[in-house]
Amino acid sequence: MSMLFERIALIGVGLIGSSLARRIRRDGLAREVVACARTRETIDKVLALGLADRVSADPAAAVTNADLVVIATPLSAYAEIGRRIGPALAPGAIVTDVGSVKSSAIRDLKPLLPASVQFVAGHPVAGTEHSGPESGFAELFEGRWCILTPVNGADMPAVAKLRQLWEAVGSKVVTMDPEHHDKVLAIVSHLPHLIAYTIVDTATNLEKDLQSEVIEFSASGFRDFTRIAASDPVMWRDVFLANREAVLEMLQRFTEDLTALQRAIRRGEADKLQEVFTRTRAIRRAIIEAKQA
Ligand code: NAP
Repeated sequence: MSMLFERIALIGVGLIGSSLARRIRRDGLAREVVACARTRETIDKVLALGLADRVSADPAAAVTNADLVVIATPLSAYAEIGRRIGPALAPGAIVTDVGSVKSSAIRDLKPLLPASVQFVAGHPVAGTEHSGPESGFAELFEGRWCILTPVNGADMPAVAKLRQLWEAVGSKVVTMDPEHHDKVLAIVSHLPHLIAYTIVDTATNLEKDLQSEVIEFSASGFRDFTRIAASDPVMWRDVFLANREAVLEMLQRFTEDLTALQRAIRRGEADKLQEVFTRTRAIRRAIIEAKQA
């Protein structure tokens, strides 16, 4: 694979940032990778894992002379990062991010970036329940979608360059309107996480004796929810606050459908239950066929 950038600056080296760093370095996609991490502990880990050529605690220092800047922190850090990197960005640099909500990312970052840089927001739809620099791996994006959300007036060569990068790390790339992205992700990702957090919390609130049995017999379905509910608390706090409108809309629809199922159970409507469960089974098959299982 040929070199795509001279210097890539990664702000935030957790699961997503470190996976990107690993792949970029493994395949020589940039001459140099400069990382920005907040704490001494993360800086030391990034150096020990060989994820970057240099690490700085100062975002402005990290982005100096970078031709690509990737922001990979929780969403609540965006505005502060934008304020700090804005004046230090090189003219012509491309700035992107990997955040799970796109309209808030654009709202928080775009006004703080100079007109001389090209900003195109993005979201790799790939992840695990783990976080931090040790949890990343070079193959994370393999076969997964990356959604780019350029807004009106976006620089098409910058979009094409980002497409090249995400394809080089193994992703399939699609462009989407940011609001549409946030609605789609509200149903396929954010609501399932909310449901998992709720179920696991409900089980945790049960009396002590029942709780031990929940753990013991978890293989009957509960276990799959606990994996999702083990996802990073800060990242997910930010996702729900940033995508409030879309999540509340999907939650409303979900609640209505749940109430309909509740009624079917109460009334003993076997056909209704079987009909819904048959439809949902077909969705699972379609996901397997699309190789997204
Ligand atoms: P993560 O593993 O928790 O890593 C986050 C990184 O951001 C850490 O290196 C952390 O540094 C740094 N950070 C946190 N707050 C910061 C601040 N105020 N200023 C500067 N750096 C800060 O998170 P992740 O899973 O990689 O997620 C990063 C982004 O990717 C999020 O916006 C998330 O929405 C998005 N995303 C996540 C997934 C997923 O499944 N996890 C999938 C797609 C997209 P320290 O270690 O020094 O605290």
